[in-house]
Amino acid sequence: MGPEVTSPVGGRQEGPGECARPVALTELMSTLPLGMAVVDRNLCFVEVSEALAALNGQPREAHLGRPMDEVMSPHSSLGDTARRVRRVLETGEPLDGVEIIHREPGGGVERTRVFRASYHPVRRGGEVIAACLYVEDLTERRRVEAQRDAGAARERAVREQALRETQEAVRARDEFLSVAAHELRTPLTSMRLHLQLLLRQVVGAQPVLGQELAPRSQVLERQLSRLGSLVNTLLDVSRLAAGKLSLEPRELDLVQVVRQMVDAFSEEFARAGCELSVHVSGSLPGQWDPLRVEQVLVNLLSNAAKYGAGRPVEVSLVGEGTMAVLAVKDHGIGISEDGMARLFGKFERAVSERHYGGLGLGLYITRQIVEAMGGSITVRSAQGQGSTFILRLPTQPRVPGAGPPGALGTRGK
Ligand code: ADP
Repeated sequence: MGPEVTSPVGGRQEGPGECARPVALTELMSTLPLGMAVVDRNLCFVEVSEALAALNGQPREAHLGRPMDEVMSPHSSLGDTARRVRRVLETGEPLDGVEIIHREPGGGVERTRVFRASYHPVRRGGEVIAACLYVEDLTERRRVEAQRDAGAARERAVREQALRETQEAVRARDEFLSVAAHELRTPLTSMRLHLQLLLRQVVGAQPVLGQELAPRSQVLERQLSRLGSLVNTLLDVSRLAAGKLSLEPRELDLVQVVRQMVDAFSEEFARAGCELSVHVSGSLPGQWDPLRVEQVLVNLLSNAAKYGAGRPVEVSLVGEGTMAVLAVKDHGIGISEDGMARLFGKFERAVSERHYGGLGLGLYITRQIVEAMGGSITVRSAQGQGSTFILRLPTQPRVPGAGPPGALGTRGK
């Protein structure tokens, strides 16, 4: 018989929390759903819970009073268990949370079970008289964890694969854009040259016919130049993706550039039915890349004519300290709140394709250029109430490496 767990009861009436008689360890062990055992100094089982007996594959009674090595199956990691019990008995130090991996043959298939065991000394009068074992079967928990981990790993692998495919698709698209834009540029240039030559020959040989053909040739010229600027836009996008769009700043008067661009656009504004007013005066010198400044102005002005058709457009330019501030204001369709959050993004548009043509790249490129110059572009607008695009450009180019790296560098072949 093993040691008793005594309760302070002695024939008197039970109080709260008291039993009629002491609870015997035997009673506890036969009902506990925990894997527990008490082993004496001779490594014999003093008590074993039903749960641990079941783990050992022997009835509880077959354990009691018998040495561990006789009871436990040779597959039960016995050596280690007995060794640990002996150590606890000798040192009086507990051993907690020891993980035991146990492989048992079953129907030709080896089954792996995982346990966690703790070994504690049992003392009487300061002397270690036995060791108590607690064994927890972790097999099911580990199986669920392993399944969850495998599921998470599968999901991660699927996500990573999708990301790789997307990156590859984006790379292929950028490469295609770059190749296509370069390939399209050559025949376009040649077509413009041949058109000019042809006209010159016709005018030389038959001036009357030359005059008759002039309006048609102007349409052809305009359409070719539109195609040319679309191709340049595509080229810019692929250069930006490759970090190869470049800037060549030089001394300029921004007032002059704005005046020239507004003049160049006067016909387009007239065609769009926009009355144009320009508020610029004096001069505003600074260092900017003329081609890129023109590109930004072309974009803002052509958008004002396109989305503000039939209504007045105002352009203003002022110097504010070291900044040039340009505003292009139209009274057209305006932009929704959702549209404003997106319109500086690549291929982003806030209008339907059926009503307005466009690639949704102009403002994206504009913003990249402006930010690479150390400036900013913002928009104030509301649906149906026109839009004002405000450009702030520093009069001096930014010192390379002074700000966040842009996708633009210094132009050069
Ligand atoms: P695109 O004009 O080719 O679509 P942009 O990048 O120049 O490309 O403009 C992006 C979107 O921003 C446009 O599709 C349009 O929805 C909106 N947008 C730009 N300028 C204006 C404007 N002045 N008024 C209203 N909407 C504008």
